[in-house]
Amino acid sequence: MRVAPMPVTLEADGNAATDGQKIYVNPQWMAGVEASAGEGGVRFVMAHELGHANQGMGGGHAAELNADRFAARSIARQGYDFDVVQQTMSRLNQTSTKTHPGAGQRLTNAKKEYHSEQKIEHESFMHVTRKRRTRTKIPVTRRADRNKLQRENAL
Ligand SMILES: [Zn+2]
Repeated sequence: MRVAPMPVTLEADGNAATDGQKIYVNPQWMAGVEASAGEGGVRFVMAHELGHANQGMGGGHAAELNADRFAARSIARQGYDFDVVQQTMSRLNQTSTKTHPGAGQRLTNAKKEYHSEQKIEHESFMHVTRKRRTRTKIPVTRRADRNKLQRENAL
C-alpha cells in the first residue's frame, strides 16, 4: 500500500481535511490534539487524511471508518498506545452526523483494527507464523471524485 506524500496547508477552519491533493489542517485544533494526545495524535490525524486519499476519496460514514482503520493500523505499526486514538477521538463530534459517525462508533472500529494490526506485527516480529497479512479491502471511487472537497468539519 503506497501513499504519496502530500503538502499540508494550514487553515483556520474545521479540524483536518483533504481533497486528495493537499491536507488542510486547522493549527489551533491540531495544537489541542497535540496537547492531549501528543505526537501520536497528530500522526493519527494525518494518517486518517492520507487514508482518504489512499482510498480514492469519497465520503460518508463508510469512508470515515475506512480512513480511521487505515490510521489505526499506522499508529499500531509506529508503536503508539491506543490511548492516542482515544484522546484524539475525544476531540471529535461525539454524536453521529450526516457525514461522520459518532466518536463512540469510530473508536470501537479503530480499536478493533489497531489490535488486529498489533497482533500481526507481534507475530511477524516473533517469526512465529508466516501468516499473510490480510488487509481491509478499501473501496476505490472514481478518479473524478478525487477533486471534490470533503471538508465539512472534516476529520
Ligand atoms: Zn475523514
